[in-house]
Amino acid sequence: MDLTSKLLRVFLVEKQLRGLQTRLRSAERFHSDQSAQLQQLDTKRTSLESQLRQITAVAADQEGEVKRLDEKMAVIREQMNSAQTNKEYKAFLTEMNTYKAERDRLETGALEQMAKAEELRKQVAELVTQRGEREQVQKVAAGEKTQRADEIKDRVEELKAQRKAAAAEVPPDALKKLELLIKQRGDEAMAPIEVQDRKRHEYTCGSCMMSLPVESVSGLMSSGKLTFCVSCQCILYLDEEAAKAMQPAASKR
Ligand SMILES: [Zn+2]
Repeated sequence: MDLTSKLLRVFLVEKQLRGLQTRLRSAERFHSDQSAQLQQLDTKRTSLESQLRQITAVAADQEGEVKRLDEKMAVIREQMNSAQTNKEYKAFLTEMNTYKAERDRLETGALEQMAKAEELRKQVAELVTQRGEREQVQKVAAGEKTQRADEIKDRVEELKAQRKAAAAEVPPDALKKLELLIKQRGDEAMAPIEVQDRKRHEYTCGSCMMSLPVESVSGLMSSGKLTFCVSCQCILYLDEEAAKAMQPAASKR
């Protein structure tokens, strides 16, 4: 078996492997998307909960202040009742009004904070619901991922063994070139030569459709040596159809 045929064997096994794993990969992607979304929901919740803690603390402070002012105002009310002069009474009244204004301001603030806290609590509850739903989807996705992996497991093992055996036949530098091309071009790493017109020596690359010099084709025909497309750099091979189409020309030589 010549070099190109050996490479082709590796390439075709790999292609089957990749095709088989496509569905698994998409299941894996879906699953990791769900996990990422769960993570996002958790981050959002953590942030909301920390805001909620801050707001609750501020509201508690303000309520404490209100209580403190209520006590002060009770004392002043007593003092007003026992005021000796009109002047004294007025002084207490002024003080009382100052505390009252302060108390109103604090109470309004506390109410605002509590309304905000209520809103945040609602948002957190909503996130908890969303998380529950997303978790369900993630569970299904995980099951699907496992199922798909199980479905193809035996065939994948088989193909991997085939690939290993086929690759062992190929010189390491040629194998490296093929592997690099597969990484870059996937199923287009290798392409068959297409015979457009044998008499006129018109051949094209099965991947990029550009025409190929006759030397590329004759090298492949005679020795199956490693041949790249001059345009797209894929590895060329002769499939059965092309080999058949060229057979008469070759035997004449
Ligand atoms: Zn090409």
